[in-house]
Amino acid sequence: MPNDPGFNTRAIHVGQDPDPVTGATVPPLYLTSTYTQPEFGRHQGYEYGRSDNPTRGALEEAMASLEQGDGAVAFASGMAASDAVLRACLVPGGRVLAAEDLYGGVYRLLERVYRPQGIAIHYVDLGDLKNAQEALQQLKPQVLWLESPSNPLLQVLDLARLAAMSRQAGCILVVDNTFASPYNQNPLALGADVVVHSTTKYIGGHSDVIGGVVVARDAETLDALRFIRNTTGGTLGPFEAWLTLRGLKTLGVRMQQHAANAGRVVAFLRDHPAVDTVFYPSNNPLAQQQMRTFGGMVSFTLKTDGDPLPRVKQVLERFQIFSLAESLGGVESLVGHPATMTHAALPAAERQRRGVVDGLIRLSVGIEDVQDLIDDLSQALARPQGS
Ligand SMILES: *Cc1c(COP(=O)(O)O)cnc(C)c1O
Repeated sequence: MPNDPGFNTRAIHVGQDPDPVTGATVPPLYLTSTYTQPEFGRHQGYEYGRSDNPTRGALEEAMASLEQGDGAVAFASGMAASDAVLRACLVPGGRVLAAEDLYGGVYRLLERVYRPQGIAIHYVDLGDLKNAQEALQQLKPQVLWLESPSNPLLQVLDLARLAAMSRQAGCILVVDNTFASPYNQNPLALGADVVVHSTTKYIGGHSDVIGGVVVARDAETLDALRFIRNTTGGTLGPFEAWLTLRGLKTLGVRMQQHAANAGRVVAFLRDHPAVDTVFYPSNNPLAQQQMRTFGGMVSFTLKTDGDPLPRVKQVLERFQIFSLAESLGGVESLVGHPATMTHAALPAAERQRRGVVDGLIRLSVGIEDVQDLIDDLSQALARPQGS
C-alpha cells in the first residue's frame, strides 16, 4: 500500500489482503461458530464465534481506518452498537446529555431503557454553543450524544467546538455518524471520542443487511466495548459482516452519486409551489467546512392549510420510484414520514417542539438516474385533478 492511501483505496483494501492459504482475493466468509484448537491449551487467535470471526475482523479493520480510529467493534445492529456505547461509558446514577434532534430509536433507548434504570437524560439544542457549554458545566454528564447532520431535520453541529467543550467538561463525545458516513466526515479527527454507525444504512448501502459499528480512539474504550459485546452477545454475524464489507468497498462512489442526485432534487424542491421548507445542509457554512459532500438525505415540508396528514398520505401513495419505507442509505430511493414512522416513539408535543411536524417528508435519495427521480417527485407532488 502507498504511504497515505485515499478513502476508496482503504475501503477496498484495508483488512482485506488476499487469503494467505488459498489466495482468495476477497475475504472469505467464515461461517463457523467455533475453531478447532491444534493442541491442548493453544488456539490460533480464534476460540468461539461470539468473540471473534475473521470476516467480521476484516470489516472492523476497514472501518477503523476509514473513521481514523484505533479500532472498531461490530454489532448486530446500530441499536446494539449504541446500547454498548452507553453501557461502556455510563456509571450508576449517571447522566446523558443528548442533542434535541435524534434518531427515534436512540431516543426510545434512552427514555425507555436507561431512564427507568436511574440514568438522567437531558436534551439540549447543541446548535447554540453557549447553551451546550452551560449544560455541560451544570449537568456534568458522562456522555454527550449527537448526530450531525441530524435526523430528520439535517441540522449540522460544530463537531470540533463541541469536542473541545466536552473534553474540558470531562465528558465522552459520541457522534452517530450514520447520516454523513465516514466518506463525508470523520468526527474522531475533529476530536470526538467515539463514533457510532448503523451500517444498515450507507455503509451496507443495498438495503439487505442490518448491522452497527463503533469506532474509538483509545484502547480502554475498545476493550470495554469488546467485553460488553462478548458478554451480552450482540455480535454481528459473519454473513452480515461479509455483506457489509462488500457494500463498504463502493461507499465513496455511491456517496458521490447520492450527493449529486440530492443536490438536483433539492434545487427542484426549492422551486416547487407545493413545497414549504427544504432541509439540506448545502447552504450551511459549517457543513461546507466540515463535510466532503452534503449526503443523500433531504427533508421538506408540504404547504397545507389545516391538518397536513390527508395531503401527506396523497403524496406518499403516488410515488412510483421512491418506496415508502423505513430506513435510508441504500442505492434505491426511499421516502418516509418521520412523525408516524422513524419518530413515532416521540410524544406528539415533543415532535412538534422539535420541528418533526406532521407535514414533514423525508427522502433518502438513491443513485437511480436523477431525471427519473425528479419526474417521480413532480408527479407525486402535482395536485390531483379536481382538488
Ligand atoms: C437506523 C439508525 C440507527 C439504528 O440502527 P439499526 O441498524 O436500525 O439498529 C441509529 N442511528 C441512526 C441515525 C439511524 O439512522
